[in-house]
Amino acid sequence: MGKKKAIILDRDGTLIEDKNYAYKIEDFELLPGVIEGLKLLQNEFLFFIVTNQSGIGRGYYTVEDFHRFNNHLIKILKNENIDIIKTYFCPHLREDDCECRKPKTKFIDIINDEFNIDLNRSFVVGDHPSDIEFGMNAGCKTIFLTTGHGYKHLDEFESLGIKPTIICDNFLEAVKEIMKYL
Ligand SMILES: [Mg+2]
Ligand SMILES: [Zn+2]
Repeated sequence: MGKKKAIILDRDGTLIEDKNYAYKIEDFELLPGVIEGLKLLQNEFLFFIVTNQSGIGRGYYTVEDFHRFNNHLIKILKNENIDIIKTYFCPHLREDDCECRKPKTKFIDIINDEFNIDLNRSFVVGDHPSDIEFGMNAGCKTIFLTTGHGYKHLDEFESLGIKPTIICDNFLEAVKEIMKYL
């Protein structure tokens, strides 16, 4: 069977407004262009979410709170016939030095083992340099969004010695760039 292509999506600042450790449904806010954009890609790609959720490790909210909030997103997308195959989250703090926090590639490795992904033709989309490093470490193409916290980190790439494949101002623009590769 041929390899599948994937879009590996950051969540906060990429799909939804990053409201700093949000977990309450009342703070949920989908970003513009997300539904329209994912619909344009869904015949070509499998969608996954990989998200660092140190708010759990910090005790700001529980794993159950995380799931309730995340399921709200999954359901809204589902109602639009958009399937997120699976959400992977790291609950740890940076100082825990775990194996699952982006930019470590554990979750992409798991996705690849289960779904046999063509990583070179897959994309990681996120609003933080660690998303870009994560995608680069896994051999994916990377899209850096200046939504969410993105604009604050734009000048960090040079000192980090990393470079996104593409930089975009919003989700729909990212989708249009991805479509140029089809
Ligand atoms: Mg983010
Ligand atoms: Zn972790």
